[in-house]
Amino acid sequence: MAEFQSKRAFSWTPPGLACEVEISPKKTHHLGHIMSTGLLERYVAAMVLSAVGDSLGYFNRKWEFLLNGELIHQQLAKLGGLDAINIEGWRVSDDTVMHLATAEALITAGKEEDLTRVYSLIARHYKECMDDMDGRAPGTASVSNALKLEPDEPNGWRIPFNKHEGGCGAAMRAMCIGLRFPHPEQQDTLIQVSIESGRMTHHHPTGYLGAVASALFTAYAVNGKPPQEWGKGLMEVLPKAKNYIVQAGYYVKENLESWDYFQDQWEKYLKLRGISNGGPPTFPELFGVKERDEFYKSVSYSGWGGSSGHDAPLIAYDAILAAEDSWKELAHRAFFHGGDSDSTAAIAGCWWGVMHGFKGVSPSNYKRLEYKDRLEKAARALYALQSKESSVITH
Ligand code: ADP
Ligand code: MG
Repeated sequence: MAEFQSKRAFSWTPPGLACEVEISPKKTHHLGHIMSTGLLERYVAAMVLSAVGDSLGYFNRKWEFLLNGELIHQQLAKLGGLDAINIEGWRVSDDTVMHLATAEALITAGKEEDLTRVYSLIARHYKECMDDMDGRAPGTASVSNALKLEPDEPNGWRIPFNKHEGGCGAAMRAMCIGLRFPHPEQQDTLIQVSIESGRMTHHHPTGYLGAVASALFTAYAVNGKPPQEWGKGLMEVLPKAKNYIVQAGYYVKENLESWDYFQDQWEKYLKLRGISNGGPPTFPELFGVKERDEFYKSVSYSGWGGSSGHDAPLIAYDAILAAEDSWKELAHRAFFHGGDSDSTAAIAGCWWGVMHGFKGVSPSNYKRLEYKDRLEKAARALYALQSKESSVITH
């Protein structure tokens, strides 16, 4: 990977708003592709490219568990590079199966306002999707807890607090919550659904706050908030998440005792990139494959970058900030590294798809993707559900 240094601000306006938002002539030049890509297509890209990222980062087990990013990049070069990859035969992993479970539960719930009914549906989908995990390397907490859920019992979607449940399993499947509830006035619902769906298998703040980050940044992307401001936004949302935990009244003491790790790690990261107040981000002058592997490891909980609730979205975010509108750059940073690469990829692929649609993505990367029809159908249904809930998507 070439040396990289960026201090550029990256801002854009969501498509379909040409009649609602005044855009200076200077800006329209850069926004050309975005203005010509409608929000529905970007929803489709979000679901599809998340699964593409998952499949590429996973590579049928080979790359998720290869702990050396340089070796992955060598093997990628031998395959002819990213654009040459025909995705046929590259199966999706647990991340996409569970992301689809979240999405399809939200679609089945439709306009249901009683969130406990929504949670029962999510629990049912999480439990049932465990039948589809052969060859997909699901995480320990995800499997053992999803199988214990009792969707038909009152509160059967709840599990006790567990200090070992800070893995990224909740974060990797929550992006679509931001597609379902993207409007600023829906933020409380987004927070609650992210937390409760997250703690159905990951009842630890480091786990379920990862779900909040995945969903929140997706909603930010839908609204055209510049990525450099997302981290600051997350820090402002954390107190609201904490209030909800207190109000919900379930294992409050245990949750509050373990609360700070997620926030501390994120504060440290935002400071490092110089974006605590909204950017622009600064990257090291030399930040190639090897340096990134070291960095990803340094932000991790136990040495495997991206495997926890705090660092999976953090690594995905770092890649989004650096990649700007380059699919290839995003893939090199978020999909192909020595950490838990399929989860950072599934998250980053979704956020990028919301912003850029399929711009510059080689069709061979997604044309024969497993579950492509299901993913597209889910995207369309999520789009339809949110589209009438607010008249304007604000910039
Ligand atoms: P999943 O989250 O996908 O279900 P696992 O349960 O196997 O997968 O956990 C994945 C990772 O979560 C492990 O590598 C472990 O280091 C990490 N992890 C477990 N507990 C915590 C915690 N309290 N804080 C941060 N990371 C944790
Ligand atoms: Mg996986």
